[in-house]
Amino acid sequence: MIPINPALANPLTQQPLAPPNTTSSHDPSTRPVFSIVVPIWNEEQVIPELYKRVVEIMNSTNQSWELICVNDGSRDRSMSLLCDLNSKDPRVKIIDFSKNFGHQVAISAGADFAEGDAVIVMDADLQDPPDVVLRMIEKWREGYEVVYAVRSKRQGETWFKLFTAKVFYRLLRGVANIDIPVDAGDFRLMDRRVVLAMRQLREKHRFMRGLSSWVGFKQIGVEYERAERYAGETKYPLRKMIRLAMNAITSFSYLPLQLATYVGFTLAFLSLLGIILAVVLRLSGSDAFHGQATTLVSVLFLGGIQLIFLGIIGEYLGRIYDEVKGRPLYIVSQAYGFVGHKESPPTP
Ligand code: UDP
Ligand code: MG
Repeated sequence: MIPINPALANPLTQQPLAPPNTTSSHDPSTRPVFSIVVPIWNEEQVIPELYKRVVEIMNSTNQSWELICVNDGSRDRSMSLLCDLNSKDPRVKIIDFSKNFGHQVAISAGADFAEGDAVIVMDADLQDPPDVVLRMIEKWREGYEVVYAVRSKRQGETWFKLFTAKVFYRLLRGVANIDIPVDAGDFRLMDRRVVLAMRQLREKHRFMRGLSSWVGFKQIGVEYERAERYAGETKYPLRKMIRLAMNAITSFSYLPLQLATYVGFTLAFLSLLGIILAVVLRLSGSDAFHGQATTLVSVLFLGGIQLIFLGIIGEYLGRIYDEVKGRPLYIVSQAYGFVGHKESPPTP
């Protein structure tokens, strides 16, 4: 008998569940060709327009599709708007989280439930123009398995966000041990094979664009101009952007940990020179290095550096702790529109 991982217990019933679904349980003939996954957190102002545009674009493909909206603990009318759409159009499916689990987790849940041959992830706010999807689909038909959208220009963003994003993507590329494309967000199309591979990656602090690079497959970018948010405000204040950046770096690089060694060696070497210099000056009768100020400053300086590296170790340690706890990635309160799992959604 295969031992059951307690991490895979159904949070609602406490019954053990099967491991994440890495093969389709459904008849391929009933599966849609495209799944659009949209994370939604307090987006009441954009949902009607989002639906309208998705229908327009996806109908023009003449293929079957589903729109999976992941309600990430919205506190506004988003959920009731989604329920309205679901009752009028069964292609709109809803995963309703029990609370806010964050953007990256919401995307993961959408990909876990998606049934399409290709899964397209986009923001609710129409910053990722749905018509770029058609260009992505073209590339997918040519045989590419991941088609990511590269922002050649971004409208309606502050200079601060533009600058920090630019620095971040280049820094990440410099330190990461995989090839993560610069200026590409989560807006992308993934072939079913890629999605099945990504379902096996259950790490808690997720950086989805990194994970979708990590799994490999044939990848290509399409350029687009990122539009302004259609309505509402960004859900990524500076604090969350820093968290995401830290998750990205700690997920794909050990460099911050190794820095302690490099800085340690450099400082030890410099202090050795300092010791030699002090001895020589003392022997030659000079009274340089007088007083406590130099001692105090160097002790404080070293103390600061040690605390910084303790903090860096803490960042990794906290993430290891979260992995060890083995909590599920998310908890679904209700799932609507999914054949066979209306009451009990598949395992997170
Ligand atoms: N989002 C979410 N949970 C969160 C934060 C954001 O589901 O905790 C959704 C949000 O509704 C939107 C997408 O993630 O559809 C991206 O957020 P946003 O557009 O505010 O980010 P930005 O484009 O400003 O970086
Ligand atoms: Mg946005």
